[in-house]
Amino acid sequence: MTLSKALPELRTALTPSCEILTDPSDANFVEHLKRWTDIDLKTPGAIVLPTSEGDCQKIVKWASKSSISFVVKGGGHSEWSTIGTDGIIIDLSLYKGVVVDAASGVATITGSILSKEVASALAEAGYFTALGNGNTVGAIGYFLGGGASITSSITGFGSDQIISARVITAKGELLDVTEQSYPDLLYGIRGAGQFFGLITQLVVKGHPLSALGNDKGVIWAGSFVFPLARAKEVASVMKHLMDDDSHGTAGLMMIMAPPPARNPCLVIAARFTGNPDDAPKAYKVLYDLKPLVAQGAPVPIQNASDGREALAAKGGFKRFGVVGLYRFDEESFVKTVDMWKDLVAECPDAINTAFNFQWDARPVKKPEFESAMCLHDIRYWQNNLIWHTDPKNRAKVDEFNDKTIEIMRGEDVANFADFVNGTRVGPIHRRYKGEQRLARLRSLKKKWDPTGVFTDQLLL
Ligand SMILES: Cc1cc2nc3c(=O)[nH]c(=O)nc-3n(C[C@H](O)[C@H](O)[C@H](O)COP(=O)(O)OP(=O)(O)OC[C@H]3O[C@@H](n4cnc5c(N)ncnc54)[C@H](O)[C@@H]3O)c2cc1C
Repeated sequence: MTLSKALPELRTALTPSCEILTDPSDANFVEHLKRWTDIDLKTPGAIVLPTSEGDCQKIVKWASKSSISFVVKGGGHSEWSTIGTDGIIIDLSLYKGVVVDAASGVATITGSILSKEVASALAEAGYFTALGNGNTVGAIGYFLGGGASITSSITGFGSDQIISARVITAKGELLDVTEQSYPDLLYGIRGAGQFFGLITQLVVKGHPLSALGNDKGVIWAGSFVFPLARAKEVASVMKHLMDDDSHGTAGLMMIMAPPPARNPCLVIAARFTGNPDDAPKAYKVLYDLKPLVAQGAPVPIQNASDGREALAAKGGFKRFGVVGLYRFDEESFVKTVDMWKDLVAECPDAINTAFNFQWDARPVKKPEFESAMCLHDIRYWQNNLIWHTDPKNRAKVDEFNDKTIEIMRGEDVANFADFVNGTRVGPIHRRYKGEQRLARLRSLKKKWDPTGVFTDQLLL
């Protein structure tokens, strides 16, 4: 059935508080179409905004019966929540919530609740959980795709926090997925959740703020700025710092040209967990290098990403180029400085692009269960932020990104891994490692979504 023929039936089925937007020139439609990135942004036939779990289920049942394709949108911070005129976006922005159980710290999160909203609700009750670098990133989208965090060494990944889920399957059934009811599906949801259904709700673990190693619920956040010409020297000092797990250091080495001056430089965005008074000792080797800027202060954990809000804003051609690495190669890193300079010389509209190397001195905490997420042995990431504005440079900017990733990862697949929250291209065994894991996920996909309603990932 065509979308225009099928939509009237949906209108009558949904509760009146839901919205169905069909006019692309309408301001409300335009607002809800906005994404973090304009890469591959398409215009759907309709944007449907449910206000409850029951409405989400009605929409999926209707779509299944009428053979209408759809994508789910939570925070809109990926390249994937977009679809052409034949399909609809199920936009969860009118349906969201977070409730924290004060005694246990367990948080129940629904719909399109954002990362910062979850962090704030938890902190108010005395807890925190694994969350990423983007305040406005959809929390459910983040948790489902693995979820790398600045607290991974204390908490594990985002997907490790998932205790249970409520899932609407491709056929429109609503399932309460727990260790007892559907252990296999829970295995898949923890790291590959977007490929199995519409997740209306997750129940996630909270950790007492004291697990951050201080009694104030803070982490130390600082920055050290060096001229690009000192990249080799700084990389060599950083290699030792990043390998020294006697201190809880973590952060990003960023090759960038920050506003307003736009002077190309190496910025080390440094984090420290533990007693914040110990941070200067942990970073002494960087202070000793006499950077252009050296600053840092304790920050409440829920505000740790506040300084990055500009980067989370919607619009522009943005993309993360992410690869998980088992080592830091100084020479390769210095080569990426030249790549960045060449990129900005050839594509001045890419001045916001940053080539970043991310580290955590301590290993990721492993959960007691197996799941789709399998990157716990990775402490290093090349995590490029591509950001440009001229559509003519689309392919060229991607080429620079790809080359930089290749330089950092090398050829041997044993030395790197792809990350679900970062990419959906490239061989799937780089994202889900191990034949057994992949076979288990493929068989789950065949059982719950054999026709690829929730993408054809794990079907091919
Ligand atoms: C500024 C920024 C910082 C980031 N930092 C981190 C980080 O530190 N660590 C990390 O791991 N990732 C990080 N990410 C990546 C981010 O976690 C993923 O892109 C995530 O998928 C975004 O979720 P979303 O809901 O905002 O996006 P959307 O585009 O709305 O959704 C992302 C995907 O999940 C699906 N989806 C969303 N909600 C649901 C649902 N309820 N049920 C089923 N499917 C759903 C969508 O269909 C889509 O395929 C960051 C991204 C940005 C832009």
